[in-house]
Amino acid sequence: MKIINHLIWLGHAAFQISLSNIIYIDPYELEDDLPKADYIFITHEHFDHCSPEDINKIIKDSTQIVATKQCERKIDGNVKYIEVGDRFYMDKMKVEVVTAYNIDKFREPGLPYHPKEEGKVGYILNLNGERIYHAGDTDFIPEMHEIKNIDIALLPVSGKYTMTAEEAVKATDAIKPKIAIPMHYGGIVGTVDDAKKFQKLSSIRVLILSK
Ligand code: ZN
Ligand code: ZN
Repeated sequence: MKIINHLIWLGHAAFQISLSNIIYIDPYELEDDLPKADYIFITHEHFDHCSPEDINKIIKDSTQIVATKQCERKIDGNVKYIEVGDRFYMDKMKVEVVTAYNIDKFREPGLPYHPKEEGKVGYILNLNGERIYHAGDTDFIPEMHEIKNIDIALLPVSGKYTMTAEEAVKATDAIKPKIAIPMHYGGIVGTVDDAKKFQKLSSIRVLILSK
């Protein structure tokens, strides 16, 4: 079973993976009537990643949410708060929490949109032996050289708050996933042209998913 056949891009940084469990990552601007979540992963507290309105659309009594501590004031329910470096199992799914931050994208001089010390994250999920990496909002950072054996990498390409398409190419060169999928475009910032540029420049297979 290939995860890629069970992966749906829901726009921006939001994805659904439907296996025996239904998993969402950073649900945002969801349509109604989507299947309820068994697991919801939130990379950080920004409105386009941690959206209580969207979480409420897919939550059920047994939904397990995984989120950073900074989301605490925005969400409730059954939440496991995590930090960079955590590794744990949820049922048979292995979860690794990795760092996500800016190097050269600044809100104002000296203040990055995603400062490293705030502990915003990306996730590596091991699903039936396949490893999928959701990078969160990040630049191409040195820690990506340590991310190995990735089947699918979900990488932002919009620039401004995250990597540009050119920087996403450098990230794929470091990570060497089997497949890379551009995200974090088409809404708030970035367009499909950024995704196409990434696809054109990358030496690794890039799949542009449609919503
Ligand atoms: Zn953000
Ligand atoms: Zn974002």
